[in-house]
Amino acid sequence: MLYLSTRNNKISKTPSEAVLMGIAKDGGLYMPKSFDEAKFPMDELQKMSNKEISARVISLLFAGDKMLSDENGEMAGAYKLVSKAYDNKFEGDDFAPLSKVEDAYVMELYHGPTCAFKDVALQLLPQLISAAKKATDMKDEIVILTATSGDTGSAALSGFSNVEGVKIIVFYPRVGISAVQERQMVSVDGKNTCVCSVGGNFDDAQSGVKNIFANLKLPEGVVLSSANSINIGRLAPQVAYYFKAYRDLMANGEIKMGDKVNFVVPTGNFGDILAGYFAKQMGLPVGKLVCASNENKVLTDFFENGIYNKNRSFHITKSPSMDILISSNLERLLYMVCGSDKCAEYMAQLKEKGEYKLTSEELSKIKSEFEAGYCDDNETIDTIKEVYESSKYLMDTHTAVAWSVYKKWLKESGNKDKTVVLSTASPYKFSNSVMNALGKSYNGEFDALKKLNKYTGAKIPDSLVDIENKAIFHKVTVEKDDMMSFVDSMVNKKSWND
Ligand SMILES: *Cc1c(COP(=O)(O)O)cnc(C)c1O
Repeated sequence: MLYLSTRNNKISKTPSEAVLMGIAKDGGLYMPKSFDEAKFPMDELQKMSNKEISARVISLLFAGDKMLSDENGEMAGAYKLVSKAYDNKFEGDDFAPLSKVEDAYVMELYHGPTCAFKDVALQLLPQLISAAKKATDMKDEIVILTATSGDTGSAALSGFSNVEGVKIIVFYPRVGISAVQERQMVSVDGKNTCVCSVGGNFDDAQSGVKNIFANLKLPEGVVLSSANSINIGRLAPQVAYYFKAYRDLMANGEIKMGDKVNFVVPTGNFGDILAGYFAKQMGLPVGKLVCASNENKVLTDFFENGIYNKNRSFHITKSPSMDILISSNLERLLYMVCGSDKCAEYMAQLKEKGEYKLTSEELSKIKSEFEAGYCDDNETIDTIKEVYESSKYLMDTHTAVAWSVYKKWLKESGNKDKTVVLSTASPYKFSNSVMNALGKSYNGEFDALKKLNKYTGAKIPDSLVDIENKAIFHKVTVEKDDMMSFVDSMVNKKSWND
């Protein structure tokens, strides 16, 4: 398989190169040259294990690459990487169990080490990067540099901790991050990890990181990379759970082979839902992909009228991991619908004017496969309460956005196919909001976690049980103007042991 930039389809890279580069030189994202060579063997799905499904997806999307080379074939090579990434990492050993709630299924993607769906991708990405390094005989040390508002940082740290040939620096804002998320990060003890808080908010940390990528002069033999979802190595692992959900629905007798299934996805950067679209391209019988947003509904408007307009006010909501105005991975969908020249043009317009508009043919093509909707914080909170009271099923705020949008869409469309709603975070990761929704009082975030357990009896994830007492390994803090000199000193240090 070769990879092309969404902004210039004349540049092609191997999967290893695409994974190591993250983003193309022209600013585009890497896309498989063709999905025709990546058709999933649907007739084998029913008897495949979770790991076999993940390995098959990887071996199809990265076919022919040396990172998968193994004496027993590429499928065996992929299986080894998947095992290294997932063995003993997910509670209950299932990275995406389905729960039946009313007339739909909720796919719980949050049973990994940091209790958010990003674990599925970020446990595997480091193994892919490590293998790609070996495959291309790259001697440079890779330093992953990331600014996080919470979920990405903890999941990336967990995935990259102690992975050979890679180091990771995570900056998080002193303001606007939850106590649980902060403790998850500062308690990671890998020798190759560095966690640092920044005086300021998420935007300050993010701008600081962008500035470092653009301007820091690196020592010989060191390269910077990102753990952001624009990396194809982060997108590919997510494709697997769509196939896995389909297999489980067949096993439950809910569908038979060939039936269409809808997926409702709580969306921010458009990575998760795009993985569903990849699955469809690879042969999964997907009905509608429903894009669920919170009050930052730039995508809902886009799917409605074909105009992407980021010039609008930004809302801080109770589903913070979806608070975003530029959904980077939408570029990949545009590329598939309009081709690279048009895609490059739209991205230039987005950069210059903050806006672009699809033609009506382009929009109708997208509308035949996607639906979109949004819900505000009040609806999110009401949804958590209603679903808990009627079905005793506890969901976090992000999942509640998806559930609310699902209900509205179902009513309007009358769609009869089976639907899977993706659940992206444990309710315990956002205990405050969930407790508020249930109308219960508490004293601080750690107390909310315990009281939520007392009230509902829902199991606390192992990694959060004793979170407030986890040892702190990272205490560094810098002001936003000192981020560059901090990274400079870190990349020039031989060892981070001290
Ligand atoms: C990152 C995240 C999302 C959004 O996923 P995208 O791939 O960025 O669309 C949704 N929910 C949670 C809990 C997340 O951490």
